[in-house]
Amino acid sequence: MSRQAHFTVIGAGIVGIACASYLQRAGNQVTVVDSRPPGEGCSFGNAGLISPGACVPFSMPDLLWRVPSFLADPLGPLAVRWAYLPQALPWLLRFLAAGRPRRVREVSRAMAALHTPCFDAYAPLLKAAGAEDLNRRTGTLYVSKKENGALGNSLTMALREEAGVKSQAIGAAELRQLEPALSPDYRSGLFFPDNGHSVNSFRLVQVLAARVARDGGAILRRTVSGFRFDSDKPIALLTDEGEMPLDRLVIAAGAWSHRLTEQLGTTVPLEAERGYHVMLPNPGVRPRLPISNKDHSFAATPMENGLRFAGTVEIGGVDAPPDYRRARILLQHGKAMYPGLHTEGMTEWMGCRPSLPDGLPVIDVSPKFPSVFFAFGHSHYGLMGAAITGKLIAELASGAPPSIDLAPYRVNRF
Ligand SMILES: Cc1cc2nc3c(=O)[nH]c(=O)nc-3n(C[C@H](O)[C@H](O)[C@H](O)COP(=O)(O)OP(=O)(O)OC[C@H]3O[C@@H](n4cnc5c(N)ncnc54)[C@H](O)[C@@H]3O)c2cc1C
Repeated sequence: MSRQAHFTVIGAGIVGIACASYLQRAGNQVTVVDSRPPGEGCSFGNAGLISPGACVPFSMPDLLWRVPSFLADPLGPLAVRWAYLPQALPWLLRFLAAGRPRRVREVSRAMAALHTPCFDAYAPLLKAAGAEDLNRRTGTLYVSKKENGALGNSLTMALREEAGVKSQAIGAAELRQLEPALSPDYRSGLFFPDNGHSVNSFRLVQVLAARVARDGGAILRRTVSGFRFDSDKPIALLTDEGEMPLDRLVIAAGAWSHRLTEQLGTTVPLEAERGYHVMLPNPGVRPRLPISNKDHSFAATPMENGLRFAGTVEIGGVDAPPDYRRARILLQHGKAMYPGLHTEGMTEWMGCRPSLPDGLPVIDVSPKFPSVFFAFGHSHYGLMGAAITGKLIAELASGAPPSIDLAPYRVNRF
């Protein structure tokens, strides 16, 4: 498959736009189709963290024992909409099963392989878009009120060591110096010098999409409902604005991707891990670094348009309306982190993380149709994983050997 072709990408989130960017750089024509303008899905409001050192899965061996206390705590990091539980249960069981010690090590290695090059994979795209200031290697900080609470348990530490992640334990006094805005109640820190963040996750998608359009790509507002097939492949998209002829196709439709792959004969256990943010445009404090609060599992990220608290997981499907009480929990924890916080002009947001049970994405060719590529399921790591995913999809599409082994991200692993 080396001839240059026309690719239709479904999904104008960070993953779809990164795929379109890399496919276009490889000389292909691209059309991106989304029911919304670029970046208005999950990519709009994430915590902005870009962490080459992200190698610790969410599903860990001790999670099963911690879930009841998470669910019992109204301010806790996990909520399940009980009416949705029967639908989500098979996914939840697979999610817990992914926390088996052996599987955790495999997932961790796959996370490290994908995330280590995350800044480098963005670099050519940002340069071409004239937006190199958007992603910054500032370092990031874990904090906890508990003695050594930021360090994690022995398995977490072992996984980081195996992946060669640089980190530095920080005591209470040093924490004050590194991040003076933080409440003195925090006693333990862990600094990751190689991590960083995007100062505006939405503008990031917008500038990359604008570059795709400037280079001749089409970005269209259409809702895709299905496909028309000839004897051996999909040959047209069915959309709310009529049919669109198809040559090659990339499914990068975030938390909705499984609805499309299903129609292409591939079932994937994709679930929405709904998350929330509150954005404070004039917070009145000036945190220097993005911080992951390890006591309450959320991030506080200084962005170009304010301070963002983002996180929590709510299992409730893609269609349920947001429950902004979840966002206000973040605000409550945020106020305890930064005394004197100003909340005027605050906004709230909910987005659906596209998550497979092991937390790894699918980056693959459709097992049914060689002209169809899958790029979705980046769960908590889609911002950091998007650019490298785009690069890998362009390599797959050209027939070039992929720059990392794609076996862990195959669609048939479930
Ligand atoms: C609170 C929170 C914090 C997070 N923090 C981080 C972080 O710090 N770092 C990180 O790396 N990741 C983070 N994430 C995860 C990250 O935001 C996601 O993994 C990423 O945005 C997924 O991107 P995507 O392009 O796959 O999906 P999306 O951005 O959701 O894009 C998918 C697009 O597909 C479109 N679409 C779907 N179906 C159709 C259809 N049938 N027709 C037309 N269009 C369709 C949708 O409209 C949507 O625009 C966070 C997520 C949340 C919720």
